[in-house]
Amino acid sequence: MKNRVSIIISLIISFFVIFFSISCTRQAESTPTSAAPESESELLLGTSCRITIYSDHEEADFTAAFDRIREIEQLMSRSIADSEISLINERAGSGIYTKLSEDTLQVLKEALLIAEVSDGAFDPTIGPLVSAWGIGSDDARIPGAQEITDLLAYVDYREVEIDEASGSVLLPRAGMALDLGAIAKGYAADAVREVLLDRGIGTAIVNLGGNVLTVGTKPDGSRWKIGIQDPLSDRGEYLAIAAMTEHAVVTSGVYERYFIVDDVRYHHILDTSTGYPVESGLLGVSIITEDSFLADALSTAAFSLGIERGMELVDSYEGTEAVFVTTDKELLMSAGMTGGDITLTLQDDSYTFR
Ligand code: ADP
Ligand code: MG
Repeated sequence: MKNRVSIIISLIISFFVIFFSISCTRQAESTPTSAAPESESELLLGTSCRITIYSDHEEADFTAAFDRIREIEQLMSRSIADSEISLINERAGSGIYTKLSEDTLQVLKEALLIAEVSDGAFDPTIGPLVSAWGIGSDDARIPGAQEITDLLAYVDYREVEIDEASGSVLLPRAGMALDLGAIAKGYAADAVREVLLDRGIGTAIVNLGGNVLTVGTKPDGSRWKIGIQDPLSDRGEYLAIAAMTEHAVVTSGVYERYFIVDDVRYHHILDTSTGYPVESGLLGVSIITEDSFLADALSTAAFSLGIERGMELVDSYEGTEAVFVTTDKELLMSAGMTGGDITLTLQDDSYTFR
């Protein structure tokens, strides 16, 4: 009898031991390993820049990150009168070279490279046309046909002269103008990642106006889930969610900056052969790759090139994937998107996979 009681007692005790150890493990698993993520936003590079830090951090980490974006804006923005890019543009045709910072030189060189591989569909000398259209500004308008033809004559990336020895640049003809709007945000996001890593921040999200870059691994070890912008809605509405490890996701499309006249949407990516907004059968192109710099350049380039040539360009970069959204609301994915380590979940069933 005594024996039976002690067996029952020990069974009850072991039940509780097992029960509590399981619930303790559960609890340990679900308790976050670091403090709650914190976000800060600032208006820079003509857009809303948001940084979310998951790791332990201090206010100075945000300050350093935003200072770095400000520094890049100060060098490359066309709306800042004494930026390096404004200076080059002002001196176009004067024969005077402008000495560039490492940052601007690197961005310009990458832009010229992408211009080459896209056969000029992407062209950083698009400046005069961007100004004439003014898309995204209060002065947006449809320039006259003759004006467009005249301005197209100033668009040619092959004329940009770089003096390697001194790291300086010149535009040979008055009227030419550089515009790094298609690539500077991508460069800035990578630069912020560098700042954060240098400061010991291992986990963060950098979102520069929809150019998203994830840094490190999420505290709970799960993959990052990043929305693919719905090109027909305002920013922040997603047609699909992509789950991935540390990557950049950058979208170019008809939604970011545009104006509508007589039911026609005039968006901000311009066709370097016609001078009008690109009509390539696409609403948007999202690029997913390791670096935001490349993703930003390729999203604009692929969008400009259109479905076939754009996808060919993406496929020529290893480790780079894409989702193209056609005007028929069909999604086309690069080969590595199916069965790879990036998975796409459709959010809006008015879109279909082709
Ligand atoms: P967003 O700035 O919305 O992220 P993009 O990266 O696609 O979008 O860049 C679009 C910007 O690039 C335009 O606002 C303009 O400054 C510039 N741009 C427009 N057309 C071209 C082009 N064909 N090649 C290079 N840059 C362009
Ligand atoms: Mg771009």
